[in-house]
Amino acid sequence: MVFAHDTEMSLQSAVALVNTLGEPTLDEVSDLTDFFATHDYTGRHDRTRSELDDVRALRPRLRELLTADRDAAVAIVNAMLAEHRAVPRLVRHPPLDWHIHAVPDDAPLATRIAVETAMAMIDVIRDDELSRLGVCADHDCDDVVLDLSRNRSKRFCSVACGNRNAVAAYRARQVRAAEG
Ligand SMILES: [Zn+2]
Ligand SMILES: [Zn+2]
Repeated sequence: MVFAHDTEMSLQSAVALVNTLGEPTLDEVSDLTDFFATHDYTGRHDRTRSELDDVRALRPRLRELLTADRDAAVAIVNAMLAEHRAVPRLVRHPPLDWHIHAVPDDAPLATRIAVETAMAMIDVIRDDELSRLGVCADHDCDDVVLDLSRNRSKRFCSVACGNRNAVAAYRARQVRAAEG
């Protein structure tokens, strides 16, 4: 584990949310309900169009935060925490042991996601581990990559992007061998 468990969960959720930009995977209220369940969110969930719109509208700012350099990330984190008047407290609820919530459980979902991501980025910034976050190495893919591997080997957002590039690299080697 690179970061605390709740930090890693928050980062994974934020990356998954940002990577729905430009994809039709978070267009319906039911898509957000699926996302909520998949990522073990707790607390308020309105299941309304306005809740969905607020979460969708959060994505560009989250993407900016997740792909920022260290000093720029600090500015965004501080602004987000101040904007939502975050007051950290320790809570325990399934499936997590003691971890941090910094806004009330009945705060809107978009607010909780924003603050949770900002709190997670505090760990990333303090540990100087911004290199764990980047953009997919595939030329045609802009998705964010979170690398939590021990040997920092993850370059692609997905198995699909990794395989496509492995095939392209193999073909390039075959061509060079044939020419040589
Ligand atoms: Zn929690
Ligand atoms: Zn990709």
